[in-house]
Amino acid sequence: MKENQLNMIKKIPKIVLHLHLDGSLRPETVYNWLKEQGKDVELEQVKKDLMVNKDCRDLNEYLQKFDLPLEVLQTEEHIEQAIYELFEDLANQNVIYAEIRFAPCLHIMKGLNYDQVVESAIKGMNKAKEKLKIEGNLLLCCMRGKDNKKSNLQTVMTAKKYLDKGVCGLDLAGAEALYPTSEYKDIFKVAKELDIPFTIHAGEADRTTKYKKSS
Ligand SMILES: [Zn+2]
Repeated sequence: MKENQLNMIKKIPKIVLHLHLDGSLRPETVYNWLKEQGKDVELEQVKKDLMVNKDCRDLNEYLQKFDLPLEVLQTEEHIEQAIYELFEDLANQNVIYAEIRFAPCLHIMKGLNYDQVVESAIKGMNKAKEKLKIEGNLLLCCMRGKDNKKSNLQTVMTAKKYLDKGVCGLDLAGAEALYPTSEYKDIFKVAKELDIPFTIHAGEADRTTKYKKSS
């Protein structure tokens, strides 16, 4: 694309509705965090660990790039900073509203609870809203996987608690080919009963399920 076309696109006010926090970290920030942890890393390697090649056609290869972000997004400070920086990057591209999604259950490996994860994210987002010309909301992802019922239910309850206070809904993410959407019916039934809006990742990897037309 020509530079003038890129500039034109940059100038158009935009809305982003599908963006994963753990897929949107600045390599420089992750590099600094790893250095602070005393790790011997190179920025180039961090970039490789975070980004797929331009010709990537494999969802699993793509999903592997979430490993490092999840490893470092386990403290309130890092979550707040990551969200703030993401909104800053978006504002610089003239995005005026964004919905950022992430799964709280993947950020509790080092002792945080669901409330702390979501409150840190809201704090980072509110800071961005105050300082930059941008608006936004968070979507909390339930995860496909084995024995996830309890954690997904907790995600639903957390979404209810922070609904309209920074959270605007729920999502379902993860390995669709292994865990078909139909297995998560109950969770979204609860969401519906609680009046929580939701969006679901579906149709990316599962080619086997026959979806019935609803009348
Ligand atoms: Zn997605």
